[in-house]
Amino acid sequence: MSALRLLPHAQGNKVHNFIGGEFLPSASGETLPNLDPARNETLALIPRSNAADVQVAVQAANSARAAAWGKSSDAERADLLERIANRIEARLDDFAELESRDTGKPISLAKSVDIPRAIANFRFFAGAVRHQSTSCHPMQGALNYTLRRPVGTFGLITPWNLPLYLLSWKTAPAIAMGNAVIAKPSELTPLTATALAEVFKDVDAPAGVFNLVHGLGAEAGQAIVEHEQIQGISFTGGTMTGGRVAATAAPMFKKLSLELGGKNPTVVFADCDFETTVEGVVRAAFANQGQVCLCGSRLLIERPIYERFRDAFVERVKALKPGNPQDPATSFGSLISLGHRDKVESYAKLAIEEGGTILCGGKRPQLDGEFSEGAFFEPTVVEGLGPNSRCSTEEIFGPLVTLHPFDTEEEALEIANGVRYGLAASVWTTNLSRAHRVSERIESGMVWVNTWLLRDLRVPFGGMKDSGVGREGGRHSLEFFSESRNICIQL
Ligand code: NAP
Repeated sequence: MSALRLLPHAQGNKVHNFIGGEFLPSASGETLPNLDPARNETLALIPRSNAADVQVAVQAANSARAAAWGKSSDAERADLLERIANRIEARLDDFAELESRDTGKPISLAKSVDIPRAIANFRFFAGAVRHQSTSCHPMQGALNYTLRRPVGTFGLITPWNLPLYLLSWKTAPAIAMGNAVIAKPSELTPLTATALAEVFKDVDAPAGVFNLVHGLGAEAGQAIVEHEQIQGISFTGGTMTGGRVAATAAPMFKKLSLELGGKNPTVVFADCDFETTVEGVVRAAFANQGQVCLCGSRLLIERPIYERFRDAFVERVKALKPGNPQDPATSFGSLISLGHRDKVESYAKLAIEEGGTILCGGKRPQLDGEFSEGAFFEPTVVEGLGPNSRCSTEEIFGPLVTLHPFDTEEEALEIANGVRYGLAASVWTTNLSRAHRVSERIESGMVWVNTWLLRDLRVPFGGMKDSGVGREGGRHSLEFFSESRNICIQL
């Protein structure tokens, strides 16, 4: 049965933009097909929006800010976020099904991670804005106090791998701080953003506070970044696109947050807790089919346990069987698109050309029936590549992991830091001093020790080097989505 039955506003197979509290087609009337990648079939037609749609959304956002929203209190906005969280929670199964159909990710993952995290994001920032405080700096004969004011309208541009998870991570703090937003999800994954728009309507959010403009990055996305009445951009996506966004936005002095690509090292020392580490490293490598920006795609293993660890790792990876993403028993779904599957496949071929050996995977699985044309690719492990090979340094963003033995801590650090990216890393050891020492020297915005993707929403999230600029999370998000104004009073 069509997933669109879960979107009450949809007309036939068409979903709409959400602007000024109304569901609207694109100004041009043009649409784009949205595919279910596991079945390679059309799920919906979405608006192919352009600068004209963005202009209407900007006007709606301006109107909202000029009206009651501009005078709303922290408590009123926190209440709104909580109503949104409650409504998503009440529709958790619908959201999970939409996310799984749109991305090809296992429904068990959507149900246990993506949608619960979106709910948590709204609840977390409701609490954060209720409890925020600002600073006061008394001086001789004068008093400084600092206010945090909304910036204006934010463009929120998000990728396809964690659609609602990342959109809510930006929407919740932006709204908590009193801004209006114009969201542009990846055109590959428009459905849960549309369901979120329905939630804004259902909970009677003021019109124009949350606007959704579907379409292509080069058209709708670019129009958002270029618009002079959009004062800030929070972007999550690839490093190359991030560079383009920065080149457009920086001369306009927009507030800019860039969460970009990664090629994250997983560093396994011989003194690790073996079984826990194998399990954790498989998850770090292949969660969401390896399509998480934080996935550990370079596995560095200390030589004394290299063979034993490699064999245990490969055995576990072989047990990950690609299958129907909507079957609750499936733990490995399809990739986001046939195009992306082809890209991953080309890296598997490149790995052989570069002198590597494929230990498992490296090819499309044979699936029957409705999944025979889907964007599936087997989880793939490669050994024998130099740490500077293209497969070991370029972001593949899929289920392909390279293995690298190392002899010393110094060598591990050299390999770990020898790429342009610096997003996340994980270190596996029972030696506490080593854990501190190595974590401090890895060039990475985030390091996990003996775990992976364990998130506290208060901590700074973001990357260094070519993995991004700025941090989101907790007070970092509240600061990014606001302007601080200092007031100095002569006493
Ligand atoms: P992408 O191609 O860079 O696209 C990201 C978003 O930007 C999409 O909504 C895209 O729209 C839009 N876009 C493309 N060109 C644009 C332009 N000129 N102006 C404005 N917006 C534009 O990335 P992706 O393939 O969707 O996602 C994968 C990448 O995201 C990987 O590199 C991954 O590491 C990164 N990522 C990073 C994080 C993090 O937190 N650091 C988290 C998740 C993913 P269209 O899709 O319609 O083109």
